Amino acid sequence: MSSNEAPQVTNFIYQIVEKDLEQGTHGGKVVTRFPPEPNGFLHIGHAKSICLNFGTAQKYNGVCNLRFDDTNPEKESQEYIDAIVRDVEWLGFNWAGDIRYTSDYFDQLHAWAVHLIKQDKAFVCQLNAEQMREYRGNLTEPGKNSPYRDRSVEENLELFEQMRAGEFAEGEAALRAKIDMAAPNMNLRDPVIYRVRKAHHHQTGDKWCIYPSYDFAHGQSDAIEEITHSICTLEFEDHRPLYDWFVDNLPVPAKPRQYEFARLNLNYTITSKRKLKQLVDEQQVTGWDDPRMPTISGLRRRGYTPAAIRNFCDMIGVTRSNSTVDMSMLEAAIREDLESAPRAMCVIDPIKLTLTNYEEGQEEWFEVPVHPKDETLGHRLVPLTKNLLIEREDFAMEAPKKWKRLAPGFAVRLRGSYCVTCEDVITNEAGEVVELRCSYDPATKGENPTDYKPKGVIHWVSADNSIPCEVRQYDRLFTEANPEADKERSFTEFLNPESLQSFPNARVEVGMANAAIESSYQFERQGYFCVDPDSTEERMVFNRTVSLRDSWAKQSKG
Ligand code: ATP
Ligand code: MG
Repeated sequence: MSSNEAPQVTNFIYQIVEKDLEQGTHGGKVVTRFPPEPNGFLHIGHAKSICLNFGTAQKYNGVCNLRFDDTNPEKESQEYIDAIVRDVEWLGFNWAGDIRYTSDYFDQLHAWAVHLIKQDKAFVCQLNAEQMREYRGNLTEPGKNSPYRDRSVEENLELFEQMRAGEFAEGEAALRAKIDMAAPNMNLRDPVIYRVRKAHHHQTGDKWCIYPSYDFAHGQSDAIEEITHSICTLEFEDHRPLYDWFVDNLPVPAKPRQYEFARLNLNYTITSKRKLKQLVDEQQVTGWDDPRMPTISGLRRRGYTPAAIRNFCDMIGVTRSNSTVDMSMLEAAIREDLESAPRAMCVIDPIKLTLTNYEEGQEEWFEVPVHPKDETLGHRLVPLTKNLLIEREDFAMEAPKKWKRLAPGFAVRLRGSYCVTCEDVITNEAGEVVELRCSYDPATKGENPTDYKPKGVIHWVSADNSIPCEVRQYDRLFTEANPEADKERSFTEFLNPESLQSFPNARVEVGMANAAIESSYQFERQGYFCVDPDSTEERMVFNRTVSLRDSWAKQSKG
C-alpha cells in the first residue's frame, strides 16, 4: 500500500483547510461530503471529487459523509445507489456513520420552506413553465415579478399546504423564493424551491408529492450535516450566492462554506452521467460496466485498480481552471501499477506451428519466471509439445528489413524454451498460411544456449495443452478527442466502430486455469490483461487493460 500514498500532494483546497485549522475557523473540525445524485453510475470525474473529498478528510483527521442528493425521484433508483456505494468502497474510502440521503431531511426542508413563507420570503406561483421562463428575463434583460408574488403569507401557507396534499397537478403550482427578479445572477430571480412531482421515491415511498429543488436542498443538507468545507465543481459557483441566501434566511445549525474546483474532462471520452446513460440505453455499449466506459465500474472491469485511479487523481491535481486531461495519463497510472503483475503467455490470434522433429505425445515442462525482475515470485511451468501456436503477426511470408520474428528459413527462440527454424509453410486453397513447420534445436535449451542465437524471441503456447479463451481488446470509445464539440451533431455519431475487437480463438498457458476473476497479468509482449467476470469453466475471457507502451501520443498526432 505504501506506493499508493503519493507524497506531498497539495492543492488550493488543502491550503484553505490548513489555514482554517490554523485559525480555528470551524473549531478545528474538517467535515466534507461526497454528494452524488443516484441517477447513474459514477465516472472517472466523480473519482476526482471522491479523492478530493475523502482525501481531504483523511489528510486532516476529519470525516467525509456519503450523501445521496436524491431530489429527483423519477431519475433515480436503488440500482444506482448500490452501484455508487460499491464504487466508493472499491476505491478504498470509508464514509462517516450511515449512508445519508437528502430525503432524510425532507421534513426539515419542508419546515424551512414554511419558515420562508412565514417570513414573506417565499410564495406559491401559478405561472406555467413557459410563462415562468418568459418572466425570468435573460442575461441582458431583467426579469419581471410574477403576478402571484404579492400573495399574503396566509394565502401562501394555505396554497403550499394544498400542494403538499396533492391538490395541484404537476406544473400547476410551485413554491418560489422571493429574492430579486432583476438580480444580474439569474439564480437569484425568485428560484423555484418546491415543485409538485407525483412520483414514488426510492427512499420515502409515497409520502411526498412535492419535492425540494436541488438548490434548496443542497446547501441546507450541508448545513444540517455541519459540513465545514463544501467542495463542488465550478458550475455551482454561480449558485453560491443563492445557497448563502438560504442559509442567511433560515435558522440553520451551521453555515458551510463552498469551494469550487474544475471538473475533470478526459479526451476521447465523455464524463456526463446523462450521456453515459444514453450509451447504455441505446445499447451502444454492453452496460454501465462495459470496459470501454469511463465509469468506475467500467474501469474496474477493464482491469484498473483503485490505487491507479487514486494515483491518477493525485497526478492531475485540483485547480480552478478547466482543462482536458489526456487519456495517456490515466493509462500511465495503470501501467505503473501493473508493472508488478505476474507474466503469462497468451497467443491472441493463433497460427499453428508444428515441431517436425518432436515426438507426438511427448511433453516437456519449462520453467519461466513469474516476473523477470522479481525472483521472489518464483517460476511458472509451461508445457512444450509437438503442436504449438504462435501469434499470426509473428510470421511474415516475406520478411521486412530487420525482421526479428519468423519467416521462411528464419529462426527464433520460443520464450523460455528452444530455438526453432521455419522450414515449411502450409497454405490453404485461399492462399492463407495455416501452419508453419519448424524444426527445433535440442542444443538450445536453457538460459545459456549455445552460440546459436536467433535475434528474436516470441511467445507461444502448446496447442495440445493450453486454455482456450477469448481476448477482448479495446480502443478509444470515440474517434474525436472532444466528441461533444460539434453542437450540431450528437456525440454518438463519433463513437469508434472499432472500439471493441474480440479474438475468440485465443489460447493462454495452462497455468492460468485458476486465475481469479479481476486478477491482472502481463501477457508477454502484448500488454496488461485481466480476467473478465464473463469467464466460465469452459471458456476464460480476458480484457486488455492497456498496451505495454503509450499508443495515444502517436494517435493524437497522427
Ligand atoms: P454528471 O453531469 O455526470 O451527472 P453531476 O455533477 O451531475 O455529474 P453528481 O452526482 O451531482 O453528478 O456529482 C457528485 C459530485 O461529483 C458533485 O460534487 C460533482 O461536482 C462531482 N463531479 C461530477 N462530475 C465531475 C467531474 N467531471 N469532475 C470532478 N467532479 C465531478
Ligand atoms: Mg449534479
